[in-house]
Amino acid sequence: CGIVGYIGQQDSKEILLNGLEKLEYRGYDSAGIALLNESGLNIFKVKGRIATLKESVDNEVHATMGIGQTRWATHGEPSVINAHPHQSASGRFTLVHNGVIENYQDLKREYLQDVTFVSETDTEVVVQLIDKLYETYQDTTESFRHTMRLLKGSYAIALIDKEDPNTLYVSKNKSPLLAGLGNGFNVVASDAMATLKITNQYLEIHDREIVIVSRESVSIQNLDGIEVLRDPFTAQIDA
Ligand code: GLU
Repeated sequence: CGIVGYIGQQDSKEILLNGLEKLEYRGYDSAGIALLNESGLNIFKVKGRIATLKESVDNEVHATMGIGQTRWATHGEPSVINAHPHQSASGRFTLVHNGVIENYQDLKREYLQDVTFVSETDTEVVVQLIDKLYETYQDTTESFRHTMRLLKGSYAIALIDKEDPNTLYVSKNKSPLLAGLGNGFNVVASDAMATLKITNQYLEIHDREIVIVSRESVSIQNLDGIEVLRDPFTAQIDA
């Protein structure tokens, strides 16, 4: 499957949907996007392809940040409920994921006995865990980082905190993910193909790094919270 995230000045819907279309070769049994604006979070999900998702997205909703995914189901049948983005029980956190969380059942047993799950996915454990750890850390970066430390398996993840319209939280392990750099915006995607229309400047993300993405900056840190410096590269492919 493929994921994409955008934070900037423009309407993110078009960028996300066009990006997802370019990622459909990676899997396409269901798809969804989450858009955050002043009036809240809007989630659109469908079973089927991006063309179907495009039809179901409300054109009246405008948002300068959002995340999206085209799914290739590994845990839980292809359905609207199992389609990403997935939301935590409190409604605060929303994320998309590509990969397989191998220890999701252990994590559920150990930390999330009291949480009611709505989907059958391994992915939902991640977003519920971020919400659960937030009760302890009271800080989204910390909760995200500690959750990533607990995950075993493969993932590319993009997270939205409903209370913070200025940040996307991103991480990866063994699933592809790149950050794309723009003027007044930044993007993340499973493949640069998804975002070549808007930038050719990219930053590699290495396994088990956390990336904090705002409109102005992309900051990488390792799982210990130590900042990592890395130079961008120019993608040499035509859009
Ligand atoms: N394991 C997740 C799921 O089944 C993500 C699959 C994917 O990468 O599309 O929802």
